[in-house]
Amino acid sequence: MSVADTRVTFASGAVHGTGTVVLVHHDADGAVVVLDETPFHPVDHTWPDQPGDTGILRAGGVEHAVVDTLMAAVDAHGAVAIGTEIPVKRGEDGWTWLVAHRLDRPDAPVELAVGATVDAEVDAARRAALSRGHSACHLAALALNAATTGLWSKDIGLDALGAANFDLRAGQSSRIRPDGSVDEYRLGKSLRRSGFDAASFAADLDAHRDVINAKLREWVASGALSRIETDGPTIVDRRTWHCVLPEGEAAILCGGTHVSSLGEFAEVSVSFAQPDAQTVVMTTTAVPAE
Ligand SMILES: [Zn+2]
Repeated sequence: MSVADTRVTFASGAVHGTGTVVLVHHDADGAVVVLDETPFHPVDHTWPDQPGDTGILRAGGVEHAVVDTLMAAVDAHGAVAIGTEIPVKRGEDGWTWLVAHRLDRPDAPVELAVGATVDAEVDAARRAALSRGHSACHLAALALNAATTGLWSKDIGLDALGAANFDLRAGQSSRIRPDGSVDEYRLGKSLRRSGFDAASFAADLDAHRDVINAKLREWVASGALSRIETDGPTIVDRRTWHCVLPEGEAAILCGGTHVSSLGEFAEVSVSFAQPDAQTVVMTTTAVPAE
């Protein structure tokens, strides 16, 4: 069976679907199964912010647990690379881009052989919590940018709402978790050379936190609509998160999953820690609406 870029349905919020097995592969971590179309969201291999989905693949009356979902890529010679083994960026030409469902076993069972029709069901509660975590992460970054935009003495790139994009400039890593995220920022020399008043930021972290949390309360209270727009159906087509905030519609390139409205939150808030003089860690916590 020829393999094409995997079609994905998670951008619309899907957690359930039917697909056909197009590839079975195994490596040191066990077996992976690739479907032609899937609702499962994979962790990105170069910017692993949102964890892969977990859930179940059902075939021939048997359920098989999916313990992780990863990117896979096939080169021009047919060699398969899984997750962090992939030597190129997502979407690079000359590769076929796939979503790999990792099974909790060394080899795929006969029910999941190439050509089998499979019922794919994502753990919906975990997905919903990760979607809240990811939307909260973006909202917190926008609120952080807004709160710090006055600390720049030079022009740097602006974010989706027109504030100086501290998050993009200083961000080292971003980790989405159920109902929250942890973002690490570096206040190094290069940031100060770009015109950022890091000393004032670090000295006033509590005041910045309060400003950010007030903005987040306002946004949650607005119940703003949130959605993902896609340029096409496959895992490598560009996807953009849109949120219709009171300040305007924010649009941010994003491969993850999101809430459908900020009405899904009771509260989003942040706290800061400074593990060393050069590092600020922002922890975002979402409380789901009842
Ligand atoms: Zn994102």
